[in-house]
Amino acid sequence: MELVVQSSNLAAIFPSIFASWGHDPALSLAFSSLERPDLVPARVVSHLGPQVELVDASGALRLAQPSGRLRHTLRADQLPTVGDWVAVTPAAGAEPAIVHCVLPRRTQLIRRGADKRGGEQVVAANVDTFFIVTSANRDASARRLERYLIAVRDGGAAPVIVVNKLDLVDGDELAAALAELAAVAPGVPIAPVSAHSGAGLGELACYLAPGRTVALIGSSGVGKSSLVNAWLGSDHQAVLPIDDNDRGRHATTRRELFALPSGGLVIDTPGMRAFGLLDSDIGLDDTFADVAALAAACRFRDCRHQGEPGCAVDAAIDAGELDPGRLDGMHKLERELAAAERRRDQAVARAERARWKAINKAQRQRYKVDPKSGR
Ligand code: GDP
Ligand code: ZN
Repeated sequence: MELVVQSSNLAAIFPSIFASWGHDPALSLAFSSLERPDLVPARVVSHLGPQVELVDASGALRLAQPSGRLRHTLRADQLPTVGDWVAVTPAAGAEPAIVHCVLPRRTQLIRRGADKRGGEQVVAANVDTFFIVTSANRDASARRLERYLIAVRDGGAAPVIVVNKLDLVDGDELAAALAELAAVAPGVPIAPVSAHSGAGLGELACYLAPGRTVALIGSSGVGKSSLVNAWLGSDHQAVLPIDDNDRGRHATTRRELFALPSGGLVIDTPGMRAFGLLDSDIGLDDTFADVAALAAACRFRDCRHQGEPGCAVDAAIDAGELDPGRLDGMHKLERELAAAERRRDQAVARAERARWKAINKAQRQRYKVDPKSGR
């Protein structure tokens, strides 16, 4: 895909972000405590293979690559990703800049890699709000929604469910769709919108205030790129017509951070089919807060709600007050989380071994005695 953001646009908008940088005590403290006056702060806006594209206070776009030290000492999920704030060498001709440090992330969305070896990908960093986009004319999968909610909360960001294409359904259908979502996501804001007509978009403006970062996640075809275009006020993201089976579309090919005229920032992500989960207790408890509230009345504190005596959750299901599918979903996700945690532990152990091997090798190299000089 072509570079779709014009740097003039970024130049106009990013200085205000760097102005607000000064008001973010955590970020400016993290940067100044590096004690690297030779480096400048910048934010990663996209990936181009192993390189990243970033924007610094001048508003100019630059290519950059992580330093050799970062590549050798950081795990894949710690390397610069879209939304990261980094410390880089200042611009020098056409040379790619070198990223020397990734500043601590305020939030991150982790996705387990498709390789099943526990490989992790950080989909986006430093996102304030995730818009979980669904489509009013298609049944949202409750299980997928639960996964998204858990992953978002686990990474420290706030979820909002955006129900797009409200122009395709009538009032009753919309009401039914919203009620279904509200049951799966108690307490989560739900915003019906239409990227095509613009209806409801105003309700989302508060999340796109200057300096705030939003990322869009959701299945392919729900209208994420169309929403980005609606906010940009132009066709920056390619939108492909959808076929009857929603297949064969690959409109958004990479994750990218866009600066909006509102001063807000938005990250579009390719449709993610398999959204793996990671260890997450916070996210699971919040997502199943209704089950947790019932569980408080179970006789046993460690009740698993699988037929134990005095189980208040089972009683609520028998009384028709709780959808049994919800408890099944929770158990399924619990098992998945436990498996992910095991895989993650193994992957971390592997990465640690490789890291120490590299460090040992470097030390042996350093202390190696030159046979000729004897030094
Ligand atoms: P993405 O894969 O989530 O980025 O989805 P796209 O933005 O590429 O949109 C997929 C299809 O849905 C395209 O044909 C869009 O024109 C269509 N679409 C997106 N938003 C709306 C909407 O609000 N109403 C209607 N009727 N169609 C929409
Ligand atoms: Zn119970």
